[in-house]
Amino acid sequence: MKIYADNAATTKMSKTALDAMLPFLTEIYGNPSSLYEIGQRAKEALEEARATVASAINAEPNEIYFTSGGSEADNQAIRSAAVIGARKGKKHIVSTAIEHHAVLHTLKKLEKEGFEITLLDPHENGIVRPEELAAAIRDDTCLVTVMYANNEIGTIQPIGEIGAICKERGVYFHTDAVQAVGHLPIDVKKEKIYMLSASAHKFHGPKGVGFLYARKGILLSNLIEGGAQERGKRAGTENVAGVAAMAAALKEAVDNMSANAARLTALRGRLIDGLSQIPHSALNGDAEKRLPGNVSFCFEGIEGESLLLLLDDKGISASSGSACTSGSLDPSHVLLAIGRVHDVAHGSLRLTLGEDATAEQVDDIIEAVKEVVSYLRGMSPVWRDLMNGKGRFIL
Ligand SMILES: *Cc1c(COP(=O)(O)O)cnc(C)c1O
Repeated sequence: MKIYADNAATTKMSKTALDAMLPFLTEIYGNPSSLYEIGQRAKEALEEARATVASAINAEPNEIYFTSGGSEADNQAIRSAAVIGARKGKKHIVSTAIEHHAVLHTLKKLEKEGFEITLLDPHENGIVRPEELAAAIRDDTCLVTVMYANNEIGTIQPIGEIGAICKERGVYFHTDAVQAVGHLPIDVKKEKIYMLSASAHKFHGPKGVGFLYARKGILLSNLIEGGAQERGKRAGTENVAGVAAMAAALKEAVDNMSANAARLTALRGRLIDGLSQIPHSALNGDAEKRLPGNVSFCFEGIEGESLLLLLDDKGISASSGSACTSGSLDPSHVLLAIGRVHDVAHGSLRLTLGEDATAEQVDDIIEAVKEVVSYLRGMSPVWRDLMNGKGRFIL
């Protein structure tokens, strides 16, 4: 049995994406800045991809900047808003405690450079309260950055509401939409999003390529200086093959979005129902307002890392939280922010289903998790104490 249930960490590249990239790794290898034919053909492919990507989020092609991925787009968006803000003496940024580290660590760095950062804790269902966000905006706020959907617990934020608040208050609004693009319908105009980050490998495109949407009129600051690529805002010879594959993957994802979402939502429900039968367990994040393929659980008396290793032995690839924190002993900042205590947060499991998941696979996962949880609890002194009435169950 081999089941890949870690699609929030990365996805398998689709055949469509692979086919779209191959010509630019073989015959059409020209540099898009070159004036001869194979250069110009690469340039055309780049601009075609820009139009495809733009239309997927209702943006204009000249509002799309290709990057090396989601992290770079997050860094550039936040840095740009900080530079613009600092010029006007505005050095306050509002964000949330459940952001990806690409956002949180950029904010930490800005804090050291003299910015003031307000991180909002979400409601215990993992969703940010818009009224709290509105109250946190000050006269010197230069940016609000709130992720579209969380990479660990899958919760979907009220982005349209937040966008409207930011527009009314005249503050730039950036969203890390890496988990949402290609999975949820996004309309940057309707949702009043000023900047948005995305990454191809989260929607069946290749790794190492992504994009930043920045509304017309926003002066981006460069992270990388050099040539005049991407209208002078991101130097370096373009990743033509990666960009072409990203556009193809995104078009495919958008075309099949509603059908995929319906199927995955049903499988998600089946998985949640199955895992809920395990005693002293709890779903993390809102049961409804979550990504179609995301299931995140905490099991009391379990150590997440052991759970993952034993599931791996059974052929199931899963995660304890984000790929970035595994290997560290700190519990997930997201689980702590929604109020899980340390011991419980350590016993977390994130299963993120891909579009090709089946009901049979879901049933196999449920069976395997049940087995492994009861095996680990059987060996755990903490669990024995709890069962003997020493200490209290939290879940
Ligand atoms: C994966 C991810 C990123 C980072 O994207 P990369 O392309 O891997 O740099 C940023 N934010 C979120 C929410 C993610 O899930």
